[in-house]
Amino acid sequence: LIEVKNLSKSFDDNSVLENVNLQIKKGEVVAIIGPSGCGKSTFIRTLNQLEKVSGGNIYLDGEDITSKEANINDIRRRVGMVFQHFNLFPHLTILNNLTLAPVKLGIMSKKEAEEKACELLKRVGLYDKKDAYPDSLSGGQKQRIAIARSLAMNPEVMLFDEPTSALDPEMVGEVLSLMKELADDGMTMAVVTHEMRFAREVADRVLFFDEKGIKEEGTPEEIFENPKSDRLKEFLSKVL
Ligand code: ATP
Ligand code: MG
Repeated sequence: LIEVKNLSKSFDDNSVLENVNLQIKKGEVVAIIGPSGCGKSTFIRTLNQLEKVSGGNIYLDGEDITSKEANINDIRRRVGMVFQHFNLFPHLTILNNLTLAPVKLGIMSKKEAEEKACELLKRVGLYDKKDAYPDSLSGGQKQRIAIARSLAMNPEVMLFDEPTSALDPEMVGEVLSLMKELADDGMTMAVVTHEMRFAREVADRVLFFDEKGIKEEGTPEEIFENPKSDRLKEFLSKVL
């Protein structure tokens, strides 16, 4: 579904990613781990073109999303993203947070968007909050709403950048179990995470990023039980 070819990215003369190659199949869940500052966020942001690439190509279902002709709104709709800080619209009710983009982009009528939003709110267990404002929600609830808001666009892929890092520990579980449900339902996902248990239990494949790109990749078992490189061993000794 996604193919990354020879991707490179620099900010001015700071080269962050060099020659990254990756394929993500439909329905696959890929976890991205690695030390701070190594380019995980930068990488994942290129996958929906929040970040332009400096070199290489990214294909979504065969279409080059790095080309000048690519339609950015279309890419953002097809590739949903959930951030560490939920980025909900504070002045809109939960329901309107979910219906805004699909209606504005002309993907759904207001009625269709509301029906879809209600269905999603039920799915994430927050239907009773539909008329509330984001400020009245807990961090875990906000993040579940942020996930529902992305799903409202019927994305083909969901990207997550440390979705639980800003949460109080007791709220991490509710967000991870929602993500696990999504994965079990067959959603294609790329997840930057510090939650090694999640990576181990939910991911089909784990990518270890270090300076400039993917340094090691494999099944959770290969990465966690049989790490090959010293850098990965050292990283795991710090986080496990
Ligand atoms: P963390 O685990 O702390 O989130 P990360 O792996 O996500 O780290 P990135 O945020 O991708 O790392 O940053 C990689 C490098 O790119 C860093 O050196 C950072 O300073 C640089 N960088 C990221 N975004 C920008 C930007 N918009 N402008 C300039 N430099 C940037
Ligand atoms: Mg980051």
